[in-house]
Amino acid sequence: MRRVVLKLSGEALASAASDETIDATTVDFLAREIAAAMDRGGLELAVVVGGGNIWRGATGAMAGMNRASSDIMGMLGTVINALALQDAIESHGRPTRVMTALSMDQVAEPYIRRRAVRHLEKGRVVIFAAGMGNPYFTTDTPAAQRAAEIEADVVLKGTHGGVDGVYDLDPRAHADAVRFDELSFDEVIARDLRVMDMTAITFCKDNRLPIRVFDLMAPGNLGRALDGAPVGTLVR
Ligand code: UDP
Repeated sequence: MRRVVLKLSGEALASAASDETIDATTVDFLAREIAAAMDRGGLELAVVVGGGNIWRGATGAMAGMNRASSDIMGMLGTVINALALQDAIESHGRPTRVMTALSMDQVAEPYIRRRAVRHLEKGRVVIFAAGMGNPYFTTDTPAAQRAAEIEADVVLKGTHGGVDGVYDLDPRAHADAVRFDELSFDEVIARDLRVMDMTAITFCKDNRLPIRVFDLMAPGNLGRALDGAPVGTLVR
């Protein structure tokens, strides 16, 4: 049984075509990809969902808000996304549980490691919401931290917007940018490559947790990444 944490940005739930913060068609696409991957068996899947489509703590802080208050708004945004994703995955027949790092008993279960692992063993897709429950982080770091805590094999960092891995230069600005098939953590740190937040990168390095960065929006790609196929870029 392969145990995986998938990190999904909030913006992956938004629509490039419309102004929707949470786009039903996009969420349904992601849910279908997740359900199809689960249906093939051999997989325990936890999802950490971001909130950048709704609010980013840093945005409020730049406008003069207290950083901690602004980050709590961001964490609440991740819960909204998690509930949208839960609903969509369940409409495709897969049981799910949302577990939050901030307690909100009427909405979702609190995060308890042993309970999360039990859900995974029972074939439920577990969606971790509210990041780590602490301000001054983005959801990249809880993706790495939860992965270590539940003893996942890999963190899958799903991208959107057409970037299908890690490049030496920004591929949207440089036509000659070259994609890496594989990188070491030290190379990512030395070149300051934008894989995940640096806090998450150093955490993964210290805990020997590989990260695969891949294009989440290409049909079938999530299944390939979950199967361990060499899509995108592997950092280890
Ligand atoms: N956040 C936080 N602590 C955490 C995780 C998230 O304070 O452990 C806040 C932070 O303000 C962040 C926001 O929640 O900007 C949304 O998460 P993120 O920026 O990671 O969303 P994504 O870019 O993945 O959509």
